[in-house]
Amino acid sequence: MTDRTEMWTELGMDLEAHDNLCSVLPTAFGDVFLSQENRPAGMAYWDMVTADIHGIRPAELVEAQKKGRKVFGTFCVYVPDEVVVACDGIVTGLCGGSQFWVPDGEQVLPSDVCPLIKASVGARLGRTCPFFRIADVFVGETTCDGKKKAYEILANDAPMYIMDVPQMKREKDIVKWAGEIEEFAAMVEEVTGNELTPENLGCAIKVINDKRRALARVYEARKSTVAPISGTDALLMMQIAFFDDPVRCAEMCNKLADELEQRIAEGVSAMPAGSKRILITGTPLAVPNWKLHHIIETCGAVVACEEMCTGTRYFENLVDEGQTTLEGQFRALSERYMKNNCACFTPNTGRIDDVIRLAREYRVDGIINTNLTFCTTYKLEGPALERAVEEAGFPVLNIETDYSDGDSEQLRTRIGAFVEMLGD
Ligand code: SF4
Ligand code: SF4
Repeated sequence: MTDRTEMWTELGMDLEAHDNLCSVLPTAFGDVFLSQENRPAGMAYWDMVTADIHGIRPAELVEAQKKGRKVFGTFCVYVPDEVVVACDGIVTGLCGGSQFWVPDGEQVLPSDVCPLIKASVGARLGRTCPFFRIADVFVGETTCDGKKKAYEILANDAPMYIMDVPQMKREKDIVKWAGEIEEFAAMVEEVTGNELTPENLGCAIKVINDKRRALARVYEARKSTVAPISGTDALLMMQIAFFDDPVRCAEMCNKLADELEQRIAEGVSAMPAGSKRILITGTPLAVPNWKLHHIIETCGAVVACEEMCTGTRYFENLVDEGQTTLEGQFRALSERYMKNNCACFTPNTGRIDDVIRLAREYRVDGIINTNLTFCTTYKLEGPALERAVEEAGFPVLNIETDYSDGDSEQLRTRIGAFVEMLGD
């Protein structure tokens, strides 16, 4: 593997602490991914990217910056990538999914904040993630209270821009979000030095829609009871999609989808025969949070679908490609993004409808509703969700967990019993 020490030094990273992080990742990756059998050959791409996750893509971003391009780091699937791509900027996800970053986050945040927030702040302040060093602009958003306040703390150390996400989905909220996107576009134009036009925005809408279509093809294959890919591998593909170049991401996902369709035709499964099918819903699983998928898939089940931001919410619903004015395009972007069902909105009954619809489409035997510790919004809508899916005939298991391994054995016992209970 290429030695990246020089790049990490130039990025101002804490090399010693970063070495500690890098020393545990290969074992974790090997245990979770390489121990699986009958994986699609196409996963070699994601294995390669993940094996050098702090090297390959960061090096590309640094090279692009040397040519004058700007990198925008984002924390939420409401931020419209299309606007950045249209101005020749680059988007990278910034959500932290490792327990490694949590203690650094706890230096400035109370411990009773969700681990995703603590890890995201810790990754920046601890100087142990290159993506958090590279981003020229950090784009936050007014979703949950924890994130809003954490952005204020991050702003002491990083250049923050905040988008004001509405909390309801009325017509005036869609109008408001279109206005926010317009203001965001003005900032992106200023930072990149490139003008946003209906032409370049139209091209960018197509690029991001193509990426969504490619991700959707992989998910479509997961509807087959052949189970041509494990949920763990599909999750990795999805997590890396937040960091990858969108055109290359679409190309690699389409290749993977070709292979999965072939495997379905030939009856080639990645999972043992008789594996119970699970839909997982809830708070996002940011890379490298593979804990639940690994436990579920080593307990006799396969994760067939994720109703979460690192899942169907990232690719479902396309932006209308027929608009030819910026005003029409901002409106089309707003309409698409406002279809996303996050617990930060009220009411959020669309998520319950989605979970039931997806549970049927993906032909699952049971549902796991997962909540990151201290995430109030998702926790509070849990009981209504559980009632509704049970009424629709799906057994449900409610889980609250964080990034640590402390509860892994307890989770294994509970998930194992749940899978067992799903019967034949
Ligand atoms: S769960 Fe809500 S706040 Fe978090 S990434 Fe998804 S939409 Fe954004
Ligand atoms: S998981 Fe919950 S608390 Fe954490 S960032 Fe997302 S919405 Fe906020």
